[in-house]
Amino acid sequence: MSGTKEQLEEIRIKNEMQVEGIDFDPAVFGNLELGSEYEEAVYTLYTMDRKSHPGIDVPECFFTKSGYRIHTRWIPDSKYHLEYTDGKFNIYSRQENKTVLEDIRFEKRPRYFGLKTSDGTDMRSVAEDRGYGKLFTTYSNECSLRDQGLMCKFCNINSTKACYGEPQNLTWKTPKQIAETVEEAYSEGYRSWKICGGFIPERRELEYYLDVAEAIIDRVGPDDFHGIAQIGAPNDLNVIGKYKEAGYSAIGTNLEVWNPHLFQYVCPGKAQLFGGQKNWIDTLKEEAAVFGRYRALTTFVSGIEDRSSLLDGIEKVIEMGVIPLPAQWNSNVGSEFEGQRTPEPGWHWDIIDKTTDIWIKNGVTWEDIYETNAQVDRAIHDLYRWKLGIEIDGVGRVVNE
Ligand code: SF4
Repeated sequence: MSGTKEQLEEIRIKNEMQVEGIDFDPAVFGNLELGSEYEEAVYTLYTMDRKSHPGIDVPECFFTKSGYRIHTRWIPDSKYHLEYTDGKFNIYSRQENKTVLEDIRFEKRPRYFGLKTSDGTDMRSVAEDRGYGKLFTTYSNECSLRDQGLMCKFCNINSTKACYGEPQNLTWKTPKQIAETVEEAYSEGYRSWKICGGFIPERRELEYYLDVAEAIIDRVGPDDFHGIAQIGAPNDLNVIGKYKEAGYSAIGTNLEVWNPHLFQYVCPGKAQLFGGQKNWIDTLKEEAAVFGRYRALTTFVSGIEDRSSLLDGIEKVIEMGVIPLPAQWNSNVGSEFEGQRTPEPGWHWDIIDKTTDIWIKNGVTWEDIYETNAQVDRAIHDLYRWKLGIEIDGVGRVVNE
């Protein structure tokens, strides 16, 4: 069983729009109750826009007719242009000279976005809304690898902070702020939360994650916690069990690049300071051993290395019992790769097509995907569900089993 031809075409267009972005005059959003009725994008970690726009809000995402979420990626001169005509928002393709998405609707703003924690912090800055009931916290929106000149070359975490930190009131988060926000959002229907962040100098990730888990569990209880910890490779793999003991239900460590030579070059800090690529791979194996098959995830920055190397990595990682996620590379503003471009949409389509086949062949379920991913609204997730005919509700639960 699979979805319809129309749905597949919408996923294909979505894949194109995530690669090519959309262009618009931001004044067009004067026709949208952005920041009150509709959700504005908040950049607690990265921005995928090729246009910096501090002080200018843009919508987090919009939907195709069949309900696929497309994140707003502002890329000036994109072939896709957002227009407002006769009371409707449409997306027009300059290349094809036609409207490709008509009368799009935007994501509604969650209630918690308008609330503050007890110390007056905006909850929207504590946990991003990643759709389908998913929350995402970046506890430190900076990475100390910059100080050593060892940042991953695709990453723009520090420049994102420099650009949006002040306008969007983004700072480091305390366990109490996170717990209050998660409790509030869960009462609104959200049901899964992931934490990550850049490296901090003293590397006290474990203690901090344990404090946060305790604070959330105190408020929502262990059964409803549903926490996912994204960690850097530790020097002592024994600490991985501590995350499980603390109540986290899944874990992840991002390998980013499979080719070992390219890993050294693209991720010099990960390679030089934390045991080399071998330690990152050993971490994934340990995570699968401790948390169970497909309760650990690793992300590859898809588009940096060649297709065969990436697919080889995806095959090898899944053999370890870890879910591999090829996440489309965008040459983010402020990263060392700024100005370079990601491969063509067709290249990315081929990768997500082959990866979803690999997931299916190896028995990865929707629950496995939901339990491990920070967000499940990428084109790869849509394509996976389309191939299996899986339909989900607004918080990611399967509705047609
Ligand atoms: S480890 Fe690499 S990807 Fe992660 S925040 Fe630091 S520079 Fe960015």
